[in-house]
Amino acid sequence: MNAAGNPSAKISAIGILGGTFNPIHFGHLRMAQELADALNLDEVRFIPAANPPHKDTPTTTAQHRAAMVQLGIADNKTFVFDDRELHRSGASYTLDTLHSLREELGEKTSITLFMGSDAFTKFDTWHRWQEIIQLCHIALVQRPQQRGHDHKLSKALETFLHNHYTENPDDLHNHASGFATMRHITALDISSTAIRNALQHGESVRYLMPDNVMDYIQKYHLYR
Ligand code: ATP
Ligand code: MG
Repeated sequence: MNAAGNPSAKISAIGILGGTFNPIHFGHLRMAQELADALNLDEVRFIPAANPPHKDTPTTTAQHRAAMVQLGIADNKTFVFDDRELHRSGASYTLDTLHSLREELGEKTSITLFMGSDAFTKFDTWHRWQEIIQLCHIALVQRPQQRGHDHKLSKALETFLHNHYTENPDDLHNHASGFATMRHITALDISSTAIRNALQHGESVRYLMPDNVMDYIQKYHLYR
């Protein structure tokens, strides 16, 4: 990683995927892979949240969640673990994370924030959400409908999408921020919630997440 104010010439476009990762699973990994390919990104940063403002405090410590992310992405050269939210106290705001990434990478690097459709429906409740698009692009992916969840967008979000929307990946590459796009990816109806429930009931979670993450969960008796 580069020191602040010393942006790398090599990295021109990155993706970032924030989440609780409680635990990481193939839904996260496949989405990151397909967006990295579709948008021709140099790397994807996985950024676990310490203290997600929109969720109750996760039952699993940030250290365990971070360790599982590191294991899950270990064999992929494009995927990078980024622990900057774990070093901040208080709530993890994406806006702060983006300011900190800009300090590291400079103003010219294209940064694209990845989001599942479930996360985007609540985007207009995020801390100073309208400023976020000034610091990054947003790439949305359809998440398979989850029972009981409402995926309808607010008027504000519809207008937001309309104002920033592009289908052209070059727009995201040629600008550092400011565009929103939607991409179709392989639909994987996998969630951390369902995985935690399965584990609690002693069911197998094989083929939903990497084996080394499963081994870690077993070793530390998580989600029992
Ligand atoms: P939980 O059930 O605990 O909320 P989760 O599976 O939703 O966990 P998060 O860590 O909350 O995982 O998600 C981080 C980001 O990854 C969000 O933007 C979310 O929409 C996206 N995401 C998670 N799972 C998938 C999936 N299966 N397909 C597409 N996007 C996903
Ligand atoms: Mg979620």
